Amino acid sequence: MFHFDLLQQSDGARRGVFHTPRGDVQTPTFMPVGTVGTVKGLTIDQVAATGAEIILGNTYHLRLRPGHETVAKLGGLHAMCGWEGPILTDSGGFQVFSLGALNKVTEQAATFRSHLDGAKIVLTPEHSIEIQQALGSDIAMVLDHVIALPASAAEVEDALARSIRWAKRCREAADRPEQALFAIVQGGLDPVLRQQCATELASMPFEGYAVGGLSVGETPEEMYATAGVTTRHLPAEKPRYLMGVGTPRDLIENIARGIDMFDCVMPTRNGRNALAFTDEGPLKLRNAVHREDLRPIMDDCPCLACRHSRGYLRHLFNAGEMLGPILLSHHNLMYYSRLMQQARAAIEQDRFAEFANSKLRGWGYEPVPCG
Ligand SMILES: [Zn+2]
Repeated sequence: MFHFDLLQQSDGARRGVFHTPRGDVQTPTFMPVGTVGTVKGLTIDQVAATGAEIILGNTYHLRLRPGHETVAKLGGLHAMCGWEGPILTDSGGFQVFSLGALNKVTEQAATFRSHLDGAKIVLTPEHSIEIQQALGSDIAMVLDHVIALPASAAEVEDALARSIRWAKRCREAADRPEQALFAIVQGGLDPVLRQQCATELASMPFEGYAVGGLSVGETPEEMYATAGVTTRHLPAEKPRYLMGVGTPRDLIENIARGIDMFDCVMPTRNGRNALAFTDEGPLKLRNAVHREDLRPIMDDCPCLACRHSRGYLRHLFNAGEMLGPILLSHHNLMYYSRLMQQARAAIEQDRFAEFANSKLRGWGYEPVPCG
């Protein structure tokens, strides 16, 4: 029911299609984050209008509120939020380690306290799959053991070995053909551990592979190098997903290293904070320089915000009006979606490096050479 077609490659970048029972996803793709069953600030039609083909839901948040059983009674995540295309759910691992008051990790489970009411929750690999099945997502993620960087070699190796054992348990528990399961490659910034983890997971039957454990405090150059090392050891015929990344620069640099899928809260979180992405770098719309500016954020952008002047958008933020965050979230998601469309077109025309260099220089960066 799931199949990835690798259509073309250009300068390390891949143009593909991931076929799912709820529709095709053209890659490279960016997935807007719908943490608790809503992409913050936008109606589902506004999300679709940005060109997004797949969205993300967070298992940890939905498990706590409204609860996966309640979501199931409301018809599942798709019916509940009104999104008819594919949905990917994470496993809850990252949020348990970053948001929950983590009590302990044993071989059996991660035990944590809810950041909402302090309730004790035991998250096993099997329970993570059970939650994701109740939510009814199209792509589920394995539960992995996430650690903060920097970490000692022993900590990284221990978390990696546990993540592989947990991936096996998730694979055994995930028994629904209509739900794909992606494994997550860990290994910190160590190329040998990344290779070892990727090779081991690639020998198991997953529908896709994620690069996890990045965007946790490393430099951009370290992130790009680690993503590049990891993708070299993943099967070419399966999609690769870089979790929780990133800036427009991160997307372009990692597409050049063979990544196909991304998700990040940046477009919406920054939109709520009056920051708009453009080809010349981010624009801070609260700044006084925009007070009487009649120009839109971008001339050729078809989003809801770019029907208005920068001066009006600045006024909305200064007046604390909710329309400001809505419009800028729409602009930023549209920017990310169009960036992916442009990247796909550049790969099809076999001129990805030229396209990437021009975008990066527009944002004020020199391209980082692929190792
Ligand atoms: Zn716009």
